[in-house]
Amino acid sequence: MPEKRIYMSVPHMSGREEAFVADAFRSNWLSSVGPHIDAFERDVAQRLGGGVSTVAVSSGTAAMHLVLRYIGVGPGDIVAVQSATFIGSVYPVLYLGATPVFIDSEDTSGNIDPELVREYFADAARANRLPKVLIVVHLYGQHADLDPLLAACDEYGVTLVEDAAESLGSTYKGRQTATTAPFSILSFNGNKIITTTGGGMCVSQDPAAAPVFKKWATQSKEAKIEYEHTELGYNYRMSNVLAGIGRGQLEVLDDRVRQRQRVAERYREALADIPGVAMQAEAPWGMHTRWLSVIHLDSEVHGVRPADVVRALETNNVETRPVWRPMHTQPLLRHAKAIGGAVSERHFARGLCLPSSSSLTESDQDLVIELLRKCFAETPAMSSL
Ligand SMILES: *Cc1c(COP(=O)(O)O)cnc(C)c1O
Repeated sequence: MPEKRIYMSVPHMSGREEAFVADAFRSNWLSSVGPHIDAFERDVAQRLGGGVSTVAVSSGTAAMHLVLRYIGVGPGDIVAVQSATFIGSVYPVLYLGATPVFIDSEDTSGNIDPELVREYFADAARANRLPKVLIVVHLYGQHADLDPLLAACDEYGVTLVEDAAESLGSTYKGRQTATTAPFSILSFNGNKIITTTGGGMCVSQDPAAAPVFKKWATQSKEAKIEYEHTELGYNYRMSNVLAGIGRGQLEVLDDRVRQRQRVAERYREALADIPGVAMQAEAPWGMHTRWLSVIHLDSEVHGVRPADVVRALETNNVETRPVWRPMHTQPLLRHAKAIGGAVSERHFARGLCLPSSSSLTESDQDLVIELLRKCFAETPAMSSL
């Protein structure tokens, strides 16, 4: 097995991050207070086109926790969530004691189906069981169809939240991600398009929310000489050191988008002639960053399933992974209600995430392509790989 591992998505520094980190050391701002935090928040808000307030925290999951609590989610409430997602969208619903309801995807983007949402809201309104929040997720760098979702939420009094953990840099009808819904979250986890090693951000159109997020994220200290606590808090703030990394990363976000799109384009060209293998579709309503390159495998054509490819490439030290397993099929969430589910289940049965790092070299990608082509050349038996 080759010693070098080719990962799905690795951090890709610009080189400028170290100067920001060195500045944090020089100035001794080595805590969750400091100029890089303020600047990083300001720069992300500006990158999103202004008009939003931003609060930097320790993870995207923490950001979602703060946002849902601010909206007032608690025990007895329902939160409707796109079923096709990573668990980070869902844990905060459980932290707050609320009940998730999972909603299926539409076929093009693989994100939540606006028509299904509207039907669900209509039924839920009749039963007096409307959710308080709808969480939409922009998977792999591509938007869900936000306008009809926003309209349905407006009509039924449901608050829309964008989980933009995977979509920083992408746009929806020319609008930046995380700016259509009243609240959004970003992630700067190590596998995302830009990273602070770990981190996240609350994005809000409500300027009153930012001071509350900051207070809750720093243990809810009241303005008293001694620490006084009147409400629950968390230790969720981002450190000034990591915010420095974020500042260096934000400078190259546009490069990272172009590099990931280029990776996807090379896969598309190299795999185009294989029957039953197709790049994930691109919806007409947005710009897809291709944070991850996803292919769909039609096993009726060639007998190969995503798990077969994962195993075959793993023996060559190449990392691939099926697309997110729908939440309504997770053992932890087996008691949750699901609205539909066939589309996300079909995508899970067919979808495969490929090595997509912005730093992926052409020769490494060529190796991945060669290994992939072998999987389909030798179908259905893959024993010799
Ligand atoms: C990464 C991710 C999160 C969580 O972000 P963390 O920073 O890892 O906590 C949430 N939702 C989605 C869709 C993600 O991909």
